[in-house]
Amino acid sequence: MTEHAVVITGGGPTGLMLAGELVLAGVDVAIVERRASQDLPGSRAGGLHSRTIEVLDQRGIAERFLSEGQVAQVGQFAGVPLDISDFPTRHPYSLGLWQKHIERILAGWVGELAVPIYRGREVTGFAQDDTGVDVELSDGQSLRAQYLAGCDGGRSLVRKAAGIEFPGWDPTTSSLIAEVELDGEPEWGIHRDALGTHALGRVEYEIRDGEVVYADSGPVGAMVTEEHVGSAGEPTLRDLSEALIAVYGTDYGVHSPTWISRFTDMTRQAAVYRDGRVLLAGDAAHVHSPDGGQGLQTGVQDAVNLGWKLAQVVNRTSPDGLLDTYHAERHPVAARVLRTTMAHVALRRPDERTEALRETIAELLRADEPRRRFAAMMFGLDIHYELGEGHPLLGRRMPDLDLVTADGPLRVFTLLHGARPVLLNLGEPGGFDMTPWADRVQLVDAEYVGTWELPVLGAVTAPTAVLIRPDGYVAWAGDRTHLGLQDALTTWFGPPTAA
Ligand SMILES: Cc1cc2nc3c(=O)[nH]c(=O)nc-3n(C[C@H](O)[C@H](O)[C@H](O)COP(=O)(O)OP(=O)(O)OC[C@H]3O[C@@H](n4cnc5c(N)ncnc54)[C@H](O)[C@@H]3O)c2cc1C
Repeated sequence: MTEHAVVITGGGPTGLMLAGELVLAGVDVAIVERRASQDLPGSRAGGLHSRTIEVLDQRGIAERFLSEGQVAQVGQFAGVPLDISDFPTRHPYSLGLWQKHIERILAGWVGELAVPIYRGREVTGFAQDDTGVDVELSDGQSLRAQYLAGCDGGRSLVRKAAGIEFPGWDPTTSSLIAEVELDGEPEWGIHRDALGTHALGRVEYEIRDGEVVYADSGPVGAMVTEEHVGSAGEPTLRDLSEALIAVYGTDYGVHSPTWISRFTDMTRQAAVYRDGRVLLAGDAAHVHSPDGGQGLQTGVQDAVNLGWKLAQVVNRTSPDGLLDTYHAERHPVAARVLRTTMAHVALRRPDERTEALRETIAELLRADEPRRRFAAMMFGLDIHYELGEGHPLLGRRMPDLDLVTADGPLRVFTLLHGARPVLLNLGEPGGFDMTPWADRVQLVDAEYVGTWELPVLGAVTAPTAVLIRPDGYVAWAGDRTHLGLQDALTTWFGPPTAA
């Protein structure tokens, strides 16, 4: 039986990111992916939000995505644009880039890191015992792993086979989404009516002066809300044609679909993200409507939270209990995404009372403080893990400061490229003895002269030192004393090595 320290089921965005994180930490990881290649028919996610771009920047790969996509202010809530160009981040925008390209670029990175991918076969079941998990594949092969990560999407076999509950809400609305050819010239753009929201546009587009400009030719992306919540079966061209006629009075001679799918606002979340040696991440752990474009972001960020923790447990630098902090930190983040997307769906209902509610919320969101709060939430810039009382940085994302070191200028995110923790000393050089953790934590003496500004909170007191986790969140922030540092190092990066 082939052995790996970690087997990941599913090589979508979440599984690919998790594999990259693990391999950077020296873990023997493999992906099992049902699809024979990374090609993804259709569109799905339309891009990356600010915090997701930041986490990719933390690994030194953001430029690969930025160079292929379109930078834009696309965020909105209740129809009100949420411009974040004044936010304190190096990436105060979203990036328009279809999921098929995001996956291709991530797969390229994972390929460079030499992660084996068992393609064209499925995980069909598994059995866990005290020391590992036996994973069955559809080709009859078995793999043995210390841990199994279920990144296998909303219908996750891993979640079901682990018996993990998936409570939530059934769909109230469904939409067909497709890539097709049209004979007629349709009404381009977004169209709202008594059935809901619909959209027709060329798949290829550019953003010029903040406006989407569709290509003159090429396949058309169609999104049509159905009159009734659709059946669970695979939708057909006929279903799409009927849905178009119900909305536009014509199907514009729709033909040659390359892909037709259906999405709903079903909203569910795994009750636990961990069952022994089995972990869930991404859509396997949470599903919701695509409103606000949050699913892929949350999955990629789950992976970045889980990766280093799982690596430390596998590498035996931390006890297995560290994995419980994955659920503790990430479950509330997705629970909030579920709540926001449900609010989004409710607010786009076409009746007049909802219209009045939408206008009321919109009025509120035009004020600066609510805009900042909602934008930070939608773009993942306000995530705050509960790490106890202390400096406002504690549990929040570390800003990408421009530092000065003995070797010259350096960005904080550059220090995170290897996915290793950093103790950043901004006080007297040589003020820390890190010998007991020197094999795990990089100690960097640096100077920083600017202000410390966090999204929503604004300026905060400058700390004299910061302990940064590999996922870019602050585990400890020091004043002149080093109080609490040893505890934080032990909690997050394992007990000290004896001299
Ligand atoms: C219409 C639509 C629009 C969306 N728009 C956005 C958006 O704008 N922004 C955003 O952030 N998100 C958006 N999303 C959500 C986004 O597509 C998902 O959240 C994202 O794909 C989740 O990634 P994942 O890797 O967790 O799961 P998936 O992408 O579902 O990947 C799971 C992978 O596991 C594989 N797999 C499944 N079962 C098995 C098995 N048993 N064995 C082996 N392999 C298996 C699958 O082949 C797949 O490759 C949208 C979704 C839809 C439907």
